[in-house]
Amino acid sequence: METYQGKSILKGIAIGEILFHQKEEEEIKRYKPEDLEAEKQRYIDARGKAIEQLGELYKKACQEVGEANAAVFEVHSMMLEDDDFNDAILNMISTQGVNAEYAVAVTGDNFSNMFSQMEDEYFKARAADIIDISNRVVSVLRGSENNYQLTKPVILVADDLAPSETVQLDKNKLLAFVTRMGSSNSHTAILARSMNIPALIGIPIQKEWNGKMAVVDGYTGTLYLDPDEETLNELRRKKEAEDEERKLLAELKGKEDVTLDGKKIKLYANIGNPSDVANVLKNDAQGIGLFRSEFLYLETDHFPTEDEQFQAYKKVAEMMGSKKVIIRTLDIGADKQVDYFNLKHEDNPAMGYRAIRICLTQPDIFKTQLRALFRASAFGNISIMYPMIISLEEIKKIKEIVAEVKQELTEQGVAFKDVEQGIMIETPAAAVMSDVLAKEVDFFSIGTNDLTQYTLAIDRQNAELDNFYDAHHPAILRMIKMVVDNGHAGGCWVGICGELGADTELTETFMKMGVDELSVSPTFVLPVRKLIRASKCSE
Ligand code: PEP
Ligand code: MG
Repeated sequence: METYQGKSILKGIAIGEILFHQKEEEEIKRYKPEDLEAEKQRYIDARGKAIEQLGELYKKACQEVGEANAAVFEVHSMMLEDDDFNDAILNMISTQGVNAEYAVAVTGDNFSNMFSQMEDEYFKARAADIIDISNRVVSVLRGSENNYQLTKPVILVADDLAPSETVQLDKNKLLAFVTRMGSSNSHTAILARSMNIPALIGIPIQKEWNGKMAVVDGYTGTLYLDPDEETLNELRRKKEAEDEERKLLAELKGKEDVTLDGKKIKLYANIGNPSDVANVLKNDAQGIGLFRSEFLYLETDHFPTEDEQFQAYKKVAEMMGSKKVIIRTLDIGADKQVDYFNLKHEDNPAMGYRAIRICLTQPDIFKTQLRALFRASAFGNISIMYPMIISLEEIKKIKEIVAEVKQELTEQGVAFKDVEQGIMIETPAAAVMSDVLAKEVDFFSIGTNDLTQYTLAIDRQNAELDNFYDAHHPAILRMIKMVVDNGHAGGCWVGICGELGADTELTETFMKMGVDELSVSPTFVLPVRKLIRASKCSE
């Protein structure tokens, strides 16, 4: 038996035979075509065919993984229509007199290198998408078709898997996939999660593994090759327990989030953008407790316009129907930097110019977002939440700006609802002042990620301090209790949307403290539901 350690994309156990996925690696030859105009046309036709294929893939993905997750293929089509990309290829054919395959491959490599050198993790991950689309066009130019039909259940092992390859694989026969390359932010990883397939990345895969028996342990990130009897039995038991747990959890879908002594809890999910809604619905969350709206800002190269934001918020609100959608206003700064905000370098960005501080000093940015949020409120059940609050004065300023926005919308005859408004309690100042703040807002949502870093004075980004970052520290638990009591006394409901909310070791403690809402990653909804239903609020 050999064991390899990688990074897990999705928890789960898979036991089966390995299929080594060999990519077509025929060398791309450079030659001089006689008729360069005809060669350019050959490229244009191939690109058209590739766009057609992507349209088909989009339809297939919509059925299998939902519209939001299929969007990557629309993005690929858009990339293929990008003028810079196309002009670079056509230029190379005419100025260097090369064949279309060569021009596409070289341009694809150049663009991909450019993306991979970007600092932003999102753009870095797009390097793989560029290679995917240029490989597709090269395949069309060569007249070859990739075959992704699986004939039996397998653990697919590959150097890397592009999103288009992942979605073409027969989900019913794919037990797990293991790759050497890939990042947890890539679309392939996102697709794996939405397809609910255990996956490992960063494994030094070998061709010789083809046909061997293996086990993928997505809990520990381990690949066992040719497992011995003892390991196999142990992992089989782990898998049986997992299957059993999954069945039991699935039975919790549609069940109420209510404690043994009858208190109804709001069990919501956290999302970063509209594409996560499918997962929220699949896991049966009652609503969205934290939509980190800054991801909309992180994913573009310009300030998202009012209309772009409105469309995104409206889409989420409509997909969720009558269910609650709490959208947090932008929390840019600290670890979430966006070039076009032109923020100055800071020695201590986590304690710097971020979140509500940006919104209150650059009201144009804030008002654009508020207008989009209020406009979208007419299409669903939206609430607005403000991050990084430290004082009553900030809430007063927010209220003034909100009143201006509402008045403008009324004057313009634009429909909106009178939404619930709340604040994040994620600074010690807000926790200590929560008795005063409670009188001003409708709800509190405790951001334990930041509350822990600011209370314990431990940088949440610093992996070397992981051992000191004790989210169960009594100071944090006391603060949560204090915020709940102060919130209730002031007429607010109180929830937790930081990672601690999903910590099932504390679910019962939170119920006893009187927490009204838990907002967790979609995959944690059912495990937390199980614990809520087994807890009592009273002693
Ligand atoms: C938090 O700080 O707990 C929180 C939910 O916000 P974020 O993780 O986005 O900073
Ligand atoms: Mg925070």
